[in-house]
Amino acid sequence: MCIYDTSISVILRPPHEPDLELRGQLIRSLGALREMLPGSFVERQRACGRPSCHCADGKRLHPQYQISVLIDGKPKALNIPAEWVDQVREKIAMRRRFEAAAATICKLNLKRFLKEKEDRQV
Ligand SMILES: [Zn+2]
Repeated sequence: MCIYDTSISVILRPPHEPDLELRGQLIRSLGALREMLPGSFVERQRACGRPSCHCADGKRLHPQYQISVLIDGKPKALNIPAEWVDQVREKIAMRRRFEAAAATICKLNLKRFLKEKEDRQV
């Protein structure tokens, strides 16, 4: 009786479609990227201008962290507090992962679209 039940479940199982599995996985991964930020991360060295500061020697400069981003089409460099650096780096990396996932999903969907179009013409 168990054998019979097993064979039924095998018959009813939908066909294995790796593309749809991958698409599902990618879609589900996007929620984790909701805090993504645009632009790129920039690290510069600068002198603060105080003559008594160690940076006045021109060698031991202060690191300055920025997001380089377009705002209303214009390039801007936004300063980032040092304690936000790791978080901001991660959020900018999320944007790249989001775009990579979107590109893969589009590629899969285009492949399916072309297949559907081809099948229809037969
Ligand atoms: Zn200084």
